[in-house]
Amino acid sequence: MKRQVKLIVGLALSIICLCFSILLITDAIPTSPKKPKYVFYFIGDGMSFNHILGTEQFFAVKEGKGEIERLNFSKFATRNFVTNYSVSHPVTDSAAAGTALATGCKTANACIGVDIHDNELRSILDVASEQGYMIGLVTNVGINHATPSCFYGHTSDRFGFPKLVNDYISSDVAFIAGSTIMDMKSGPEDPKYEKVTTAQLAERIRNAGIHLTLDIEEAANTTGKRVALVANDKENKHVPYVIDRREGDDYHTLLNHSKAALNYLQREAKDGFFLMIEGGKLDYAAHEQDAVATFYEVREFAQAVQLALDFAEQHPDETLIVVTADHETGGMSLGWDHYEIRMNMLLEQRSSAVQLTKTMQKMRAEGKREWKDYKQLLSDEFGLWSLVPVTPEEEKLLKDDFYNIFLKYGPMVDGLYNKSEFIVYHAIGILNRHASIEWTSLYHTGMYTPLFTKGVGEKRFLECRDQTEIPRVIASLMGGQL
Ligand SMILES: [Zn+2]
Repeated sequence: MKRQVKLIVGLALSIICLCFSILLITDAIPTSPKKPKYVFYFIGDGMSFNHILGTEQFFAVKEGKGEIERLNFSKFATRNFVTNYSVSHPVTDSAAAGTALATGCKTANACIGVDIHDNELRSILDVASEQGYMIGLVTNVGINHATPSCFYGHTSDRFGFPKLVNDYISSDVAFIAGSTIMDMKSGPEDPKYEKVTTAQLAERIRNAGIHLTLDIEEAANTTGKRVALVANDKENKHVPYVIDRREGDDYHTLLNHSKAALNYLQREAKDGFFLMIEGGKLDYAAHEQDAVATFYEVREFAQAVQLALDFAEQHPDETLIVVTADHETGGMSLGWDHYEIRMNMLLEQRSSAVQLTKTMQKMRAEGKREWKDYKQLLSDEFGLWSLVPVTPEEEKLLKDDFYNIFLKYGPMVDGLYNKSEFIVYHAIGILNRHASIEWTSLYHTGMYTPLFTKGVGEKRFLECRDQTEIPRVIASLMGGQL
């Protein structure tokens, strides 16, 4: 009998303890945020803090504002910064960084969607598919360039463009948009690469039943089919920089392609969508150390973010917006000269360094060989002499470049994606110097990259210390795992 009483008391105590524990546990579990139905993932290729701040400063001066106006995403209340080194290098390339942002795993430079042992990695797109999200990818460089292809592709060689097209075809990407389909001319001359042209790759995509079009309206309004929207399906040619846009060039833009993607996904996606938008040309401009071209690209990237912000207003409590970058490009710093930054020195730059190189080469081909014509061009397009007070030493440098290199030999400065004539490279250097902007690299640097989040689960990103954690958090919010 005594034993029975003991047993009952023991049992009662255990139940009370259990109830307390459950109460405590329930109390300790934070209420998990609602699953976002719409996920926007923005990647500014090469965009770090100074590209953003420089853009804000430049347009404040250009538009005559008394003080800088922050870009929409730089005003997000939830902000963070992350490391981005790769397994092989302290400074990542877009392949390893894209893989990190797409799969949550670090890999070596040049690797796309594979680890250092060439094992294929699961991507956030796999999670999106499993969870019923429709997928869209938008860029303003090639649809099989490093960043977008890290989401759907797998290769240890980022120049394996035809293989990446095959991977795209067999992926779950419903809508893709970009400037072109990169062919093998875009990669190194090596017999191991499959020799196919952009036109042949376009044909390959069409033969797979995907609606490949150059018509933005048509792409936006296509129903029941996968869509590939490109500005060029014949040759590997990119859309011009924003600063170089002239009459008729404002059709195939990052903004218009993003609008088309959003239109398509809003209509076609029954259970939500995942949309990645990359500002890819931003990186190209920074590789050329072309500050103004970079600022225009960052601003258009922010305009694409605005689309997501407007969408989120219509779908509050259902949308997540993540804005980040893969790495920093150019080692851009603002204010090398005695606490000054003079954005006003840049106000008369009317074309990019790349465009100016093309114009000069055309003039040379037409037989123009007089310094005064080129000096006039530098004045008209960059504001040298007319706005920027070029010193005698600087003028001598440009003249020497003109006579000794440009007219005689024509070697170029290799900015990775585009080559500049030395005279243009030095002219852009003079512009930077007078504006008190300095660049330390023609490639990438290892500095922190920014992270801005808004919407469902935005605070979860405050935990991120490295870029690999970003897709893991997105995956977990979407109800899956990476
Ligand atoms: Zn780059």
